[in-house]
Amino acid sequence: MIHPEHQRRAYLQAMGIDVWLPRGEEDVASKQRALGVLPPTSELSPEGLDWPELRACVANCTRCDLSASRTNTVFGVGNTEADWLIIGEAPGAEEDRRGEPFVGRAGQLLDQMLIAIGQSRENVFIANILKCRPPDNRDPKPGEAAACREYLERQIELIRPKIILAVGKIAAQNLLGTDDPVGRMRGRQHDLGGIPLIVTYHPAYLLRSPSQKHKSWSDLCLAARLAAEASA
Ligand code: URA
Repeated sequence: MIHPEHQRRAYLQAMGIDVWLPRGEEDVASKQRALGVLPPTSELSPEGLDWPELRACVANCTRCDLSASRTNTVFGVGNTEADWLIIGEAPGAEEDRRGEPFVGRAGQLLDQMLIAIGQSRENVFIANILKCRPPDNRDPKPGEAAACREYLERQIELIRPKIILAVGKIAAQNLLGTDDPVGRMRGRQHDLGGIPLIVTYHPAYLLRSPSQKHKSWSDLCLAARLAAEASA
């Protein structure tokens, strides 16, 4: 059981707020951290955290090896009260540099897809399965996705979106816990903890295979209909 005062201090530290301790106590806390009596600030459970706390927790995360090679964590971007939550795979090189998801060519196509259904980067929320870039843009390892999962789950809890759009195989498979290909998952409604979820192709795939764009368009229309129904 973590003492509430220790947890409060750990949150403040994770948020970059200086915590002044009576002389001697600071030493005790860091010794306890080193001994594993207190969790490192990077290992706080995201459960119950608010947005600033969660953001700080992610920024300090060392749950997996990707923390060693990242330039920035990519927390997610957009409206924290969005109806739409878009979930992709993991940051690429440009996203890692800028700390923002979907800013490369695939991101530009995602922006256009959003505009086509009357949404925008500003009024949806965009996140990924991983908050850190896997080296050489390899697929996320299961352990990395598992280590990051609680952060995404807390984001979903806080946003309470009306619709989740999983873009690409990695996002859909991780969220739905299946090995099915996108072709089998897309085009129909899934459920993630009571929230309707639609799977579609990743914009990077659509850049390589533009002939598949009409299928994504129909997935987006289905998602828009479900979001409207949930708002009615
Ligand atoms: N691809 C993703 O899945 N996410 C990003 O943030 C960028 C590219």
